[in-house]
Amino acid sequence: HSTAPARMGHIGENLLAPTLITYGTEEQKRRHLPPVARGEALWCQGYSEPGAGSDLAGIRTTATPDTTTGGYTVTGQKIWTSLALDADFCFVLARTDPGSIRHHGLSFLLLDMDQPGRIEVRPIRQLTGTSEFNEVFFDGARATETVGGEGNGWQVAMGLLARERGVSTLAQQIGFAEELGLVVAAAVASGAAEDPVIRARLVRQWAELDTMRRHALRTLGTTGDPGAPSVAKLLWGGWHQRLGELAVEVAGEA
Ligand SMILES: Cc1cc2nc3c(=O)[nH]c(=O)nc-3n(C[C@H](O)[C@H](O)[C@H](O)COP(=O)(O)OP(=O)(O)OC[C@H]3O[C@@H](n4cnc5c(N)ncnc54)[C@H](O)[C@@H]3O)c2cc1C
Repeated sequence: HSTAPARMGHIGENLLAPTLITYGTEEQKRRHLPPVARGEALWCQGYSEPGAGSDLAGIRTTATPDTTTGGYTVTGQKIWTSLALDADFCFVLARTDPGSIRHHGLSFLLLDMDQPGRIEVRPIRQLTGTSEFNEVFFDGARATETVGGEGNGWQVAMGLLARERGVSTLAQQIGFAEELGLVVAAAVASGAAEDPVIRARLVRQWAELDTMRRHALRTLGTTGDPGAPSVAKLLWGGWHQRLGELAVEVAGEA
């Protein structure tokens, strides 16, 4: 029993590419999509900051137009940047209008990660011993362009998040079904399945997973409903935590 590992190119393939298809110029699509499709360009996501996690509109990383290059100069800090150490490029949400607050005055910028002295990536060591997450420090880093135009960053960022929380998680349900199968098998093997409460909880997990799948299929053909992907995210996040708790109970002290 094992599901295939997550794809290294996930962020470029499933998050950036559909965003470029919706908001990017023809030139941006021609330049950035083929290397993503070929697996040659790995991207990372520069949204979260120490003071802007759930409250993403609190972003403080700034970007000022660079009149000589037509790009932007980026200064600030990101955190929880998955796979940043391996990434070739980063899309960054930054404040381009210095006087702006909250969701206004933000821009969605693209930058090359290979800028020694201007970009520093510091891995965050996790309890597991691995370092999927990183802190990323921008000190006058050069961003080449915006996607969707200066000041429209919030709209583009939310368009991307709708895909991240929705369609991009579809394959995850296959892994969830397999994990549930392992927990059911463990419950049968350990005798925990004799307990009617455990049995009811296993059935509930199965029914909720089936509901998630139907919700996903229902939303596949719809566009412009920003609520649907958020519902999906809420469903799977809680579901997976409850499966973990159930697995611990089924396995018992062992
Ligand atoms: C697997 C994984 C990969 C990630 N990869 C990336 C990435 O590549 N790039 C990136 O930019 N970010 C990434 N993140 C970060 C993530 O998207 C969130 O920004 C971050 O986890 C939430 O911010 P925080 O950790 O500062 O928590 P906080 O926002 O500080 O939240 C802490 C707690 O407070 C609660 N809370 C917050 N606001 C409220 C409120 N108003 N009312 C009630 N409760 C509240 C939250 O529910 C939570 O329990 C990743 C996260 C995970 C788990």
